[in-house]
Amino acid sequence: MRIAVVGTGYVGLVTGTCLAETGNEVVCVDINQKKVEMMQQGQLPIYEPGLEQLFHRNIAQGRLRFTTSLSEGIEEAKIIFLALPTPPGGNGAADLSYVLGAAADIAGLLTSYKVIVTKSTVPVGTADKVTAIMQQHIREGVSYAVVSNPEFLREGVAVEDFMKPDRVVVGTSDERARKLMAELYGPYVRQGNPIIFMDERSSELTKYAANSFLATKISFMNEIANLCERVGADVDMVRKGIGADERIGRRFLFAGIGYGGSCFPKDVQALAKSAEENHYDFKILDAVMDVNQTQKRMLVEKVSNYYQGDLSGKHFALWGLAFKPETDDIREAPALEIIDALLSAGATVSAFDPEGMNNVKALLGEKITFAENPYAALEGADALLIVTEWQLFRTPDFERVGSLLKAKVIFDGRNLYDIQKMIDCGFYYNSIGRKVVG
Ligand code: NAD
Repeated sequence: MRIAVVGTGYVGLVTGTCLAETGNEVVCVDINQKKVEMMQQGQLPIYEPGLEQLFHRNIAQGRLRFTTSLSEGIEEAKIIFLALPTPPGGNGAADLSYVLGAAADIAGLLTSYKVIVTKSTVPVGTADKVTAIMQQHIREGVSYAVVSNPEFLREGVAVEDFMKPDRVVVGTSDERARKLMAELYGPYVRQGNPIIFMDERSSELTKYAANSFLATKISFMNEIANLCERVGADVDMVRKGIGADERIGRRFLFAGIGYGGSCFPKDVQALAKSAEENHYDFKILDAVMDVNQTQKRMLVEKVSNYYQGDLSGKHFALWGLAFKPETDDIREAPALEIIDALLSAGATVSAFDPEGMNNVKALLGEKITFAENPYAALEGADALLIVTEWQLFRTPDFERVGSLLKAKVIFDGRNLYDIQKMIDCGFYYNSIGRKVVG
């Protein structure tokens, strides 16, 4: 099938590449000329495990192309995906200007039936808005269908998630579009995972409900962790104890320093705003956001308490900048708030992250120093702060860590290390929801 993907970011590029992988002919459209030029030269603009091989293979076999021209991109496509940003607007609601703007432009270019699929995360009622704006620009006699098809991929495992999704959600009332979507996604659900067809509104809400539920799980466990610290319990034990219950499940129960990234913060906020606009007081969401804000500051609070509130002149090593492991994405990363708080308190920072350093460099420039490897970041630092749970940080040479640091002090926002190991190695070790040792 011929496909166009409008917006070639984390979602659009993975979608386009993975659709090409099963034999479709895909054209990716983006307004960012530099990005498009990079991709035309065979360079990936993002880090995503497993993407590079698929990207090169499909370009080489002529199934994946890139352009800045919308008309060229959609000319022959049967299905047009919109994978455009939906950032928070001024009032917290999702900003739909990218999606509606593109829909209007596409409508003006259509000469035959096409399916317009919204892959961006959009509030309930957006399919109606897309239809209304297309109606204003469409030529007489040309028909089209608007479909909601939210994306559930996780950065860091995006290729795997796209190729073998737990489920595909499709919201449409157009029978022809339904058949085309079933045909397109068939190869990805061969193992029996479902394509769940529903109405557009339910589909749009499903995405927000999923992300908000996951964010709720995180905030809930972070509150349990905070309570653990006060009552002398260990959150890792509590996690194992509850996770063994099949109704709860083992996944997504890890305490830490709050959720970040380009999705959870904005999606929880947008759902709360949708509820408010519909005169519904969604109490849980307010608590989820509130807890997360507090949790993001937790590590710095621990650090500050340790140094009796005086961080001026202190130097800290940071392991991890990306909002989670296996990505270079730093949008809403807890690391950024931590760095900001440390610098404001008069401290200096040396950081290492396997993939996120270029993006932070572009944002902060010389405000912090960037190390070539995890150990180089430690030289002369008063303490090590662990911010992102990259595998690389899980089993370091603790003797070397101890000898490079000025003092054997670790603040661990991701609970990477065994408490007994930290005692044996002689570290002061302060993590989340577990006893402080040393
Ligand atoms: P992104 O910022 O990485 O990518 C968006 C791309 O769209 C950019 O390359 C930008 O240049 C391009 N763009 C902007 N305006 C354009 C236009 N008029 N025409 C063509 N291209 C244009 O965003 P993302 O992370 O891929 O997210 C896209 C959508 O998918 C959002 O709604 C997001 O909430 C949703 N989503 C994201 C994830 C994720 O993990 N990143 C997962 C699921 C859903």
